[in-house]
Amino acid sequence: MYLKSLALRGFKSFADSTRLDFEPGITVIVGPNGSGKSNIVDALTWSMGTRSAKDLRGGSMSDVIFAGAGSRKAMGRASVEITIDNSDDSLPIEFTEVTVGRAMFATGENAYTINDVECRQLDVAELLSDTGLGRETHTIVGQGRIDAVLNARPEERRAFIEEAAGILKHRRRKERALRK
Ligand code: ATP
Ligand code: MG
Repeated sequence: MYLKSLALRGFKSFADSTRLDFEPGITVIVGPNGSGKSNIVDALTWSMGTRSAKDLRGGSMSDVIFAGAGSRKAMGRASVEITIDNSDDSLPIEFTEVTVGRAMFATGENAYTINDVECRQLDVAELLSDTGLGRETHTIVGQGRIDAVLNARPEERRAFIEEAAGILKHRRRKERALRK
């Protein structure tokens, strides 16, 4: 399994349709300060369903929508699509390529798709959860995160370990079942 491509439109500084293709192995993104490198990482986090504005370095969720720059007007919609190569069947879905899409409107409404079929945020979370991807996982290590792990309270540190061991998903399911 590897990330094949990332397509953005109206997301943070990426007003125009932008597509990045990746090869298996390591990719390094370089560029001047403020050119959008971290915004690319934010797009990955966001497409996988995060509901935390803090994860995205913003004050509110709608801060991800292109807010205008220079003579360009603000946009009313942000969208990101990630395409994952699934030829090794890492994802529990019978497709060799899986595209997960998220769009957000200025009203704050979100829309999710898996291979162009509308779905819930929960479907995306479940699809990605066994892979270590998705929200509430720690595949994406941001600046300051190492310090956060070292300084975490014991219960928080336990959650990191549970996630790495793949049992967080079952805990979430149990919590949902108990709420019903
Ligand atoms: P550094 O090297 O300093 O870490 P970077 O390449 O990671 O820089 P980013 O943080 O990705 O840069 O990009 C910051 C830029 O994105 C800023 O110029 C900011 O104005 C712009 N930006 C962030 N959110 C939006 C938005 N909603 N609309 C328009 N531009 C935005
Ligand atoms: Mg940065």
